[in-house]
Amino acid sequence: MYIGVDLGGTNIAVGVVDENGRILHKGETPTGVGRPFEEIIKDMGDLVNRVIQESGYKVEDMKSIGIGSPGLPDQENGIIVFANNLGWHNVPIREELQKHVNLPVFIENDGNTAGLAEVIAGACKGAKNSITITLGTGIGSGIVVDGKPYSGAHSVGAELGHLVVQVDGVPCTCGNKGCWERYASATAIIREGKEAAGKNPESLIYKLVDGDMDKITAKTVIDAAKEGDETAMELFDRFIYYLTMGIITIINSFDPEIIAIGGGVAKAGDFLMDALLEKVKKHIFYKSAPYAKIVFATMGNDAGIVGAAMLGNL
Ligand SMILES: [Zn+2]
Repeated sequence: MYIGVDLGGTNIAVGVVDENGRILHKGETPTGVGRPFEEIIKDMGDLVNRVIQESGYKVEDMKSIGIGSPGLPDQENGIIVFANNLGWHNVPIREELQKHVNLPVFIENDGNTAGLAEVIAGACKGAKNSITITLGTGIGSGIVVDGKPYSGAHSVGAELGHLVVQVDGVPCTCGNKGCWERYASATAIIREGKEAAGKNPESLIYKLVDGDMDKITAKTVIDAAKEGDETAMELFDRFIYYLTMGIITIINSFDPEIIAIGGGVAKAGDFLMDALLEKVKKHIFYKSAPYAKIVFATMGNDAGIVGAAMLGNL
C-alpha cells in the first residue's frame, strides 16, 4: 500500500492506494496558503495519519508517501525549490513531513504525477511513452518515458504549458510572452470570451451570463460555440488552432505513443476532440506516417493522488 498526496493551492488530498493504482480510502483538508509551511505540512501529516487510520490499515502497512506538488521539486533532497501558487521557496517538505509520519517520502511535479496516473490506471495504460496535458487554469503536462516520469536533467523539463506558440505574444505569469497556456487553457478562453463579449453584446456569450462578464467561464464560451454563435465559434476555432500547434510541437519533439488530454476544458467532449483531431491531421508534419493517438484523460480528480502514490512503486 502507498500514500498519495495531491498538494494543491486550495486543498490537500490524501489517499491510500494499492499497487494497481486503486484508491482504497481518501480525504482532504484546505491548504490554507499564506500560513507558515510548517503548519501546512503538519496538517498534511495529520491528514495522512487520519486517512491511514480510517482505511483500517496501519502506518507500517504503507511503503511510502508520494507528493505531487506544483512548481519545481528537488526529488533527491526532498525540497520544493519553488512553487509560485503556494508562495514557497526551498521548503524541506520531506524532512518536515517525516516529523509527523515516519515513512520514505518522494516528491514530483503535479503535472508528472497526473501523467503517471494515466499510465498506471487511466487512458495511457500499457503505453511506454505518453504525454498527459491538463487544460485548466494553466496547462499542466506530464511526460512519461519507459513508464517513468521524465522531467529532465534539472527537474525543470515538464513545462509544456510554457512552450512559446506566439513570439512576443500575450504576457505569461512566467515572465515570458506568448506561452501555450496563454492561448489554450481555460484562463485563455475566459479572457478572450470576456473581450469578445464586451465588443459584441449581441453574442450568445454575453446573453448566457445576462451581461455579467464576471460569470463567463470556459464552459460559457464553448456552450455558445456549440450553439453556433459566431463570436464564440471564432474564439473556439482560435483556441483549437493554438491547442493544435502545441500538440504538433509535442508530437514533433517526442513522438509519444499516446497523448491524453484532461482538465476542466476537456469536458467539452467530442465537440473539442473532433475539431482537434481534424486540425492535427491537417497540420501534422509527416502526413503519411503514424503518429500519437490523442484521447481524453480518464483519471479526473483522482489523478493527483494515484500518480503521487505510485512514485513509491516505480
Ligand atoms: Zn509562460
